[in-house]
Amino acid sequence: MSQDGYVIDQMISAKAIAARVEALGAEITEAFRDTDRLVVVGLLRGSFVFIADLIREIGVPCEVDFLEASSYGNETTSTREVRVLKDLRGTIGGRDVLVVEDIVDTGHTISKVMEMLRARAPRRIECCAMLDKPSRREVDVKARWTGFEIPDEFVVGYGLDYAQNHRNLPFIGTVRFTDPQK
Ligand code: 5GP
Repeated sequence: MSQDGYVIDQMISAKAIAARVEALGAEITEAFRDTDRLVVVGLLRGSFVFIADLIREIGVPCEVDFLEASSYGNETTSTREVRVLKDLRGTIGGRDVLVVEDIVDTGHTISKVMEMLRARAPRRIECCAMLDKPSRREVDVKARWTGFEIPDEFVVGYGLDYAQNHRNLPFIGTVRFTDPQK
């Protein structure tokens, strides 16, 4: 797929994604089989396609909530601050919670979000990430479930964007720049 100054090469097909999501759903169902009502928390915006498919493969009763967090680099202290732009509508105290993330890259976002949600005293909290780029990790964090481990490449599609574009691609692809100006 060719765009202005870049090309998107397919990395993971829609078929491979669907098969993996089905397997993840089965594992999550098994892990939460004693739960009355699971709270599935999607991190906006990148996880919205994944969470929509994943919940349909989860066989325990669940409700869905969303959280939007944004991470900002601080060049002087080389730390990252994670700010909540949109908080959950519901409460999670005493509940079983599954946090659904699009991609774990440096790990700052998910580790801060998990720390913040753990402070609300859920009964149990786990994380499922569609993608993991372990080579980029700066914080020692790992999702309990990961769809695919990928190399250090910028990816789009299946909810993930490049400048807000390409979230609607049914596959996951890498962005390769063809224009040296960009
Ligand atoms: P982290 O805090 O783990 O470094 O960053 C996680 C966030 O960075 C993800 O939720 C995602 O929004 C963004 N991100 C990291 N890698 C990629 C990528 O390859 N493609 C896109 N579209 N977003 C990415």
